[in-house]
This record gives sequence, C-alpha cells and structure tokens, in this order.
Amino acid sequence: MAVKQGDDLREALRARGMRVTPARLAVLALLRASDQPLSHAEVGDYLAAHGWDPATLYRNLIELAEVGLVRRTDVGDHVWRFEATQGGHDPGVHPHFTCTVCGSVECLPVLELVAARGKLPRALRQKQVEVHVRGVCDQCS
Ligand SMILES: [Zn+2]
Ligand SMILES: [Zn+2]
Repeated sequence: MAVKQGDDLREALRARGMRVTPARLAVLALLRASDQPLSHAEVGDYLAAHGWDPATLYRNLIELAEVGLVRRTDVGDHVWRFEATQGGHDPGVHPHFTCTVCGSVECLPVLELVAARGKLPRALRQKQVEVHVRGVCDQCS
C-alpha cells in the first residue's frame, strides 16, 4: 500500500482546526491509502515501526472521526473499523462485505440513494446508515 503524506493531509487537518502532529498525519495517510476499513489493532500493526502507543493511535482515530475525516463502522463483529471519508477512499455511503470464513472486510461500490423512488427513512437520506453484506471471499471460496 502506497502511503503518502502530502500537503493535502496537512490542509485537511488544519481546515478542521486540528493541530498537525506526526501521529495524526500517519494515521490519516494510512487510512486514505487503504482500500478497506482498518481496526485500531490493524492501524497499530501498520504503524508499529513508529513506536506510538495504542492509546495515542486510538485517540487520534477518534479525533479524526469526530471532525469527519474518518468514518467509524461496525460490520457486525463489534469491532470498530475506521476508513477515510476523502482522498482515495470512496467517500459515499457504501456497503461492506465481510467474509464469514476469514473475517476480512472489503468496501463495495457506493450505494446511490435515489430519493425520487418514494419516501426513504430520514437516516437513509442523510446517509446515516450502514449496509453489511456477508458471504465467502474470493480467497476462501
Ligand atoms: Zn475469506
Ligand atoms: Zn468502506
């Protein structure tokens, strides 16, 4: 995975009133480079070489989620996973596919919500929904 820490990341943080710190930059760059949502533990594995403690990384994930740069999702296994809402990663509301054998999680194409088709629940119109699809992934089938 090609992780880039460019000026756009600094800009994204500053635009939301966040101080630019090495840990924040690294976490955001990692999530933007990833094509699947990552758990706190996975973020820790990827960034292990930096030596930040797990609490620091968790705090950064939560802070990035609070300002909307990162979205938290629970694909049904009660583990929070984090994914970037801009830059590389699909920004829209999209379903997640979870493999019932190995537990891997993939992002599926964006769910276009066609409001013209009758009345939708408000949560759906405001894109405050999560869609989970379960099955067996290519590696396991
Ligand atoms: Zn699998
Ligand atoms: Zn996703």
